[in-house]
Amino acid sequence: MIQSFYPPQRTLMGPGPSDVSPRVLAALSRPTIGHLDPQFITLMDEIKELLQYAFKTRNELTLPVSAPGSAGMEAVFTNLLEPGDKIIVCQNGVFGGRMKENVERCGATAVMVQDDWGKPVDPQKLEHALRANPDAMAVAFVHAETSTGVRSDARHLCALAHEFDCLVIVDAVTSLAGIELRVDDWGIDAIYSGTQKCLSCVPGLSPVSFSERAVQRISQRRQRVQSWFLDMNLIMDYWGGDARRSYHHTAPVNALYALHESLVMVQEEGLEAAWARHQHHHDALAAGFSAMGLGLVVDAQARLPQLNAVEIPAGIDEALVRRQLLQAWNLEIGAGLGSLAGKVWRVGLMGHAANQTNVLLCLSALGSTLQSMGAAVKPEAAIEAAQEIYAA
Ligand SMILES: *Cc1c(COP(=O)(O)O)cnc(C)c1O
Repeated sequence: MIQSFYPPQRTLMGPGPSDVSPRVLAALSRPTIGHLDPQFITLMDEIKELLQYAFKTRNELTLPVSAPGSAGMEAVFTNLLEPGDKIIVCQNGVFGGRMKENVERCGATAVMVQDDWGKPVDPQKLEHALRANPDAMAVAFVHAETSTGVRSDARHLCALAHEFDCLVIVDAVTSLAGIELRVDDWGIDAIYSGTQKCLSCVPGLSPVSFSERAVQRISQRRQRVQSWFLDMNLIMDYWGGDARRSYHHTAPVNALYALHESLVMVQEEGLEAAWARHQHHHDALAAGFSAMGLGLVVDAQARLPQLNAVEIPAGIDEALVRRQLLQAWNLEIGAGLGSLAGKVWRVGLMGHAANQTNVLLCLSALGSTLQSMGAAVKPEAAIEAAQEIYAA
């Protein structure tokens, strides 16, 4: 007979999911109530308010889509685009490519602005594309490219898009609660995120937010949104501001308890303090890597604190290293993705996992594993360099 499943206790330092705190797991296991229960409606209202806080927005249409980050991406594109629309998509990694996929499946055209993997989106290239395509109605880019560990200058890219009267669509799956993100100040019109990265919640939900301008466009569409499930015009009736809530789909009740708890934790810490914490532990981790002799793919000024792409030393079997870390240390780090597959490891410091214990664990575990395989690395120097950052 098949037995109950008990997962091992891992430390998750990959590209997501990240470690979920015991508080969030406890919230998840509270009694399920009806998704139209008056008390549940109160919880939904609080989640909206907490998400507005996390996104730094007053957007009324701010809610979690009942599916993972990829569904939030799909929700944004299917709602805003109609067949024949033209949009500029900036790509500097895997997730910009998925944006293009979404645009084309909406029957719209994606004008691609390409940058090298490991580099941020080049604002000059975007400006050039905007001049060359005055009929483009939107600009889309990934704020935090999880495939390479690069941060693009969202504030600058948004300002450029607005100069040319374009809507701005932003992938913030990895950036939300990990680095500075200001939806209203920067003028982002549609944004999607995920729960399993820097929110340290369980996977499976996608917070989204739409500006007034975006909502107007959605409500004035010529054609219905081709996805019934993701049609914001219908979802608004369930998540809407008034007390009259109508059934659309059964909300993932317990997952929303978990999201609520993780957002309460962000609020308790303070969003700016959470950004600073990610940066602080990244500084220690990066100092450790370079003292050990491991290179980072991204230049210091464009590095994401929450996702560190580390170069694999010559002659090392990268998959074997990850297997050993998992077996001997219960530590998960990520493999490279797309054109960086086999060339890098991706070490996440996301949400709850961005702490000193994890930084030191990762440096010791990776350093000693590499040393045992004959790589010329210095684990002791790594720990010393990280400790210096912590002592400062
Ligand atoms: C993880 C990720 C996604 C997809 O989120 P899922 O929850 O895995 O569907 C999209 N964009 C970026 C930048 C991501 O890091």
